[in-house]
Amino acid sequence: YLDESISVPDYLETELITDAFNKMLTRVRTLDDSRQEFVSNVSHELKTPLASMKVLADSLNGQEGVPVELYQEFMQDITSEIDRENQIITDLLSLVKMDKKVADLNITQVNINELLEQLLKRLHPIAAQKNVELILDSFRPVNAEVDATKLSLAFSNLIENGIKYNNENGWVRVSLNADHKYFYVTVADSGIGIPEESIAHIFERFYRVDKSHSREIGGTGLGLAIARSAIVMHRGAIRVYSKENEGTTFSVRIPLNYVM
Ligand code: ADP
Repeated sequence: YLDESISVPDYLETELITDAFNKMLTRVRTLDDSRQEFVSNVSHELKTPLASMKVLADSLNGQEGVPVELYQEFMQDITSEIDRENQIITDLLSLVKMDKKVADLNITQVNINELLEQLLKRLHPIAAQKNVELILDSFRPVNAEVDATKLSLAFSNLIENGIKYNNENGWVRVSLNADHKYFYVTVADSGIGIPEESIAHIFERFYRVDKSHSREIGGTGLGLAIARSAIVMHRGAIRVYSKENEGTTFSVRIPLNYVM
């Protein structure tokens, strides 16, 4: 139905109607293109848990005499990665709902310190491959009314980027603080940074910095769009500061109490 041959029927052909029709058609085609791209690129989000599982499985395969406790521990980690894969699929479906502006949050009281600790633990195998140090600075205990799954996904995307766009032996520092109204999470890295002209675009779906170095790194440009949607759904805000060849800091502010 988006065929090139579509045109305004003769009996309606006035300049105004033809113009409006063509504009609409262009809009529909653009939406259709980005939907197709979205569907084909979603697989990126599903690859991170697989990467962790592979690292865990590889470190057991071909090893002689692995102690049973270690084996069990790794198997548990693999199981939690499988759970995560499931969560991500659910979250991607949620992103589609977020786009329809339908608030679909599953709000509970969540210990944010624990949430971040779990995330860093989960991402450790990936960071270790590049010898990137993951640091958590929890300045105070924080309990907040949030959707734990959606926020985990948001922070996980930010931390994963900190690892991905980093150099060997670099660091990613996550810090948590709060006042009486909001909690604040910053994710800072010692990585390659973002060129000034790209900063305005990085939250757009599918946008990736067009430099050979970052193009070589796997990704589709969905991670930050997902992160921002999740944060905005919580009535929060996200900002970025970055300098090429020095590093990037994302700072997030989220209300402690969820307001409908
Ligand atoms: P992806 O990482 O899948 O490409 P994202 O939406 O997460 O997609 O990020 C969009 C783009 O922003 C990335 O392609 C990368 O060029 C840039 N970017 C994001 N985070 C960082 C970071 N921490 N350091 C440097 N560049 C980054």
